[in-house]
Amino acid sequence: MGTVRIGYMVAKELQQVRTEVGVQQEKSSRNEQGTEVWKFLWDLNMKHKLKHFIWKRLQNILPVNEVIKRRVGRGSELCACCGEQPETVEHMFFYCKHAELIWKASPIQWDGLLEFRKSVWLWWNSLMEAKARDAGKEHICLTVNLLWQIWKSRNRVQFEREVGCPGIVGMKAVQEWNEYEVARHKDERKVWEEKIKQKAPTEWLPPVEGFVKLNVDAALSTVKGVVGWGVVARQENGGMLKAWAGRGERYTEAVVEEANAILIALVKAGRIGRRKVRVQSDCKGVVESIRIGCRQDPKVGAIVEDILRLKDQFENCYFSFVKREGNCVCHYLAKFAMHVTSDIEWEEFFPIWLVNLAKKDVRDIAHPM
Ligand SMILES: [Zn+2]
Repeated sequence: MGTVRIGYMVAKELQQVRTEVGVQQEKSSRNEQGTEVWKFLWDLNMKHKLKHFIWKRLQNILPVNEVIKRRVGRGSELCACCGEQPETVEHMFFYCKHAELIWKASPIQWDGLLEFRKSVWLWWNSLMEAKARDAGKEHICLTVNLLWQIWKSRNRVQFEREVGCPGIVGMKAVQEWNEYEVARHKDERKVWEEKIKQKAPTEWLPPVEGFVKLNVDAALSTVKGVVGWGVVARQENGGMLKAWAGRGERYTEAVVEEANAILIALVKAGRIGRRKVRVQSDCKGVVESIRIGCRQDPKVGAIVEDILRLKDQFENCYFSFVKREGNCVCHYLAKFAMHVTSDIEWEEFFPIWLVNLAKKDVRDIAHPM
């Protein structure tokens, strides 16, 4: 994977508020916000050992030299990495040259948090603000992996006198974080696949009241190298509200075109001002990716990202999979679209073959075989 270089800046107002928080207030905020902090920590998607590590770090019970010296009165309080300063948690993670080099070499930077380094608690509290950002939680988890690697690297210096390369320490953090993320998405995918297997609908069903159902499909001609896409908007009674069809000259892969068709459907629905939509496609993979919010796929990740962004503009937007039999109208519309010369939009008056296909869907529901 590429590097994740992020320069988060905490908003100015927030910085001011935080700077004004003194040690006294810090103590009270520990009590007030404690529950929220722990809940946030336990809910993060990472290994338990990492959560426990952060918990110890926030409780100030990580066995750094200053803490040991203060508790048992033995040993040196000096940092083994630099030999210059007492080793507090803050020194070990942020101020020590050893840690600074690792942060510099790391793919994740938190420029806005620099001034909170004086307290791991304040620093963590400010880091939590990133959770609302796009991929914020993932970046927080990556950061935890980095803190863990800094701690492990410090232990190697402390106990084995072995100084590692800062770049490699940063890389390990990215590697472990990435492995965990990939495994996690695989698990989510499995659960979702199981669910689909259990009840993959084969028939078209009308939307519930107040919703518009958008069926989409794409068709490819490998011979002509063109792609056709179709979108049909239908209401509770099964009748068509609108239909769109268009052609693309570039031939890519089926899954990419299916994802594109979903994106087009959202754009079209937005333009006609519908706020509650049910989008249905017969491409299982893409629907899955959208539903679990997985943007990692090298082929459709970027399109899924756009779809998820557009989704937020709707009051209610839901994606589902239907087998091809239940997506008949769009299946033929997309095939038809491969031959059109420019994009077409229908409203009120629709081609008769399209009307007949739509009617057949409704008949099938009324009189199941
Ligand atoms: Zn040091």
